[in-house]
Amino acid sequence: MIKYIVFDFDGTIADTFDIIKALVIKEYGEYAVNFDFESIKNEDTKGLLRKLNIPLWKLPQMALNVTSKLEDNKDVKLFPEIIDLLNSLKKNYKLGILSSNSRENIIDTLIKHNIDNLFEFVYSGSSIFGKHLVLKKMCSKYKIDPREVIYVGDEDRDIVATKKAKIKNIAVTWGFNSKEKLSREKPDYIVDSRMQILEVVEDLHQ
Ligand SMILES: [Mg+2]
Repeated sequence: MIKYIVFDFDGTIADTFDIIKALVIKEYGEYAVNFDFESIKNEDTKGLLRKLNIPLWKLPQMALNVTSKLEDNKDVKLFPEIIDLLNSLKKNYKLGILSSNSRENIIDTLIKHNIDNLFEFVYSGSSIFGKHLVLKKMCSKYKIDPREVIYVGDEDRDIVATKKAKIKNIAVTWGFNSKEKLSREKPDYIVDSRMQILEVVEDLHQ
């Protein structure tokens, strides 16, 4: 029985693709000359790094740098209908956020949109060693049985991580990965609109 619905933040709740894109160009423009950012949504990380000529060892530092710079951005938009969706889900479920974005950054955004009260927790952890470990830590910290959680995320690595952590998943197609890329990892559910998440959740009770 699902009791918790836990959301990823960037690309799932918050529409931050363009903000991150601008930051990457500003910080690492030398790698991104004439780069087609939309292709990120379809390719695997290693292929992208090859295309961009970025050595793998540089990636953690670059990710950390971009994450820290994200904190300066106070104008994070939410996807349309997200607030309605969260309010509907809140009636029957406990809601949480798990992200590698900074906790402060996420909470600032939630407060700004007046939805901080909807969440039981905001859990932030570095996913450099795998997001499945972050999911497991979240479960132990809040004493949650993994079978009682469904995780909503926008990237193929979210699907991989939930499977490793034995957590059900919903993949959303409005974020950083294309539907095709997400489908390759065989998510439990894949949705194209915010309100479809309500249908999935109702389906779980059948
Ligand atoms: Mg995401």
